[in-house]
Amino acid sequence: MRVAMIGTGYVGLVSGTCFSDFGHHVTCIDKDVGKIERLNRGEIPIYEPGLDDLVRRNVEAGRLDFATDLTQAVKEAEVVFIAVGTPSRRGDGHADLSYVHAAAREIAQVAEGFTVVVTKSTVPVGTGTDLEHIIREAAPEADIAVVSNPEFLREGAAIEDFKRPDRVVIGTTDPRAREVMAALYRPLSLNAAPILFTERNTSELIKYASNAFLAMKITFINEMADLCEKVGGNVQEVARGIGLDGRIGSKFLHAGPGYGGSCFPKDTLALMRTAQEAGSPVRLIETVTTVNETRKAAMGRKVLEALDVPPRGATVAVLGLTFKPNTDDMRDSPAINIVQSLVDRGVTVRAYDPEGMHEARKVLPPSVIYTSGAYECAEGADCLVIVTEWDAFRALDLDRLKSVLKSPTVVDLRNIYPPVDLISRGFKYTGIGRGHPS
Ligand code: NAD
Repeated sequence: MRVAMIGTGYVGLVSGTCFSDFGHHVTCIDKDVGKIERLNRGEIPIYEPGLDDLVRRNVEAGRLDFATDLTQAVKEAEVVFIAVGTPSRRGDGHADLSYVHAAAREIAQVAEGFTVVVTKSTVPVGTGTDLEHIIREAAPEADIAVVSNPEFLREGAAIEDFKRPDRVVIGTTDPRAREVMAALYRPLSLNAAPILFTERNTSELIKYASNAFLAMKITFINEMADLCEKVGGNVQEVARGIGLDGRIGSKFLHAGPGYGGSCFPKDTLALMRTAQEAGSPVRLIETVTTVNETRKAAMGRKVLEALDVPPRGATVAVLGLTFKPNTDDMRDSPAINIVQSLVDRGVTVRAYDPEGMHEARKVLPPSVIYTSGAYECAEGADCLVIVTEWDAFRALDLDRLKSVLKSPTVVDLRNIYPPVDLISRGFKYTGIGRGHPS
């Protein structure tokens, strides 16, 4: 099949490349000329494990190419995906659909023959219906079906998630579109991935409900962590103890500095706005977003409290800047709040991240000093903070670390070290939700 993917970001590039790996012919399109030029030179504009190889193989096989103009690819395509950004609209938290609407208009004007237009972007319930109107207005004669197919991949494990998903959700009641989508995803049925066909509004809601539920699960365990700190208890054991219950499940029960990233913060907000306007507020999720915001601010204070010296003039080493490991994505990373609150109090911040420093420079205060590795970062610092649990930070040489730090103080916001390992070596250790060191 011929596929056009509009938007070549974390979702568009990964899903376009995976579709081409299934044997379809895919053109990935982006308005960002620099991005497409890099891709045409064989460079990958984002960090995603395994993506460079997969792109190269499929380009060489002639199944994957890149363009800045959609005309040719959309004309030839049976399926056109919209995978552009849907950031929070400034001011009200609604999803900003301007990129999605613009893409739909452009598609309508050039599509030929029966074309399935698929929203892969995360879009509020009712967007598919709006797109139908936009398309009909732009091209009344066009033979187009609008389908919802939200994406659930996780950055850092995106290829595996796309190829072996827990489920694929497809929202359409159009039999022709259903047939096209079934053919497109047929290779996945070999991996026994359940394909859930549903009606379009439901499909759009499933994506927001999933993200809101996961954000809630993280926030729940974070609050349990706070309680453990106050009353004595180990949140990791609480998580294990409840996670073994099949009704609860063990995933997404890692206490930490609060959720961030390019999806949960904006999607919970957008769901809240949709629900408020529909007169059916999601109060649970409203609370989740407030608790999470408060938590991010509290993490900076946690670091300041761990310091043995006044903040002004102190140096803090921050390990990990991206919102999670194995990505270079800094969007809404908890590191942003933490670093900002330290800098605001006069702390000198040294930082290191294996892949995120290029993006970090765009969003962190200019005074941050970037270093070339974990030990270089710790050099002369009054405190070391682990913000993102990259594998490279899981087995640091603790004696070497202690020798380079000015003061052996560690704040481990991801609980990657057993407290006893550090305390027995003379460190002052603060984790998350571990009221009694174990
Ligand atoms: P991104 O910012 O990485 O990529 C979006 C791309 O679209 C950009 O490169 C931009 O230049 C391009 N673009 C915008 N308008 C365009 C147009 N009219 N024509 C061509 N290109 C255009 O965004 P992302 O992280 O890939 O997210 C895309 C969507 O997928 C969002 O709705 C997001 O919520 C959703 N999503 C993201 C993830 C994730 O982990 N990043 C997971 C699931 C769903």
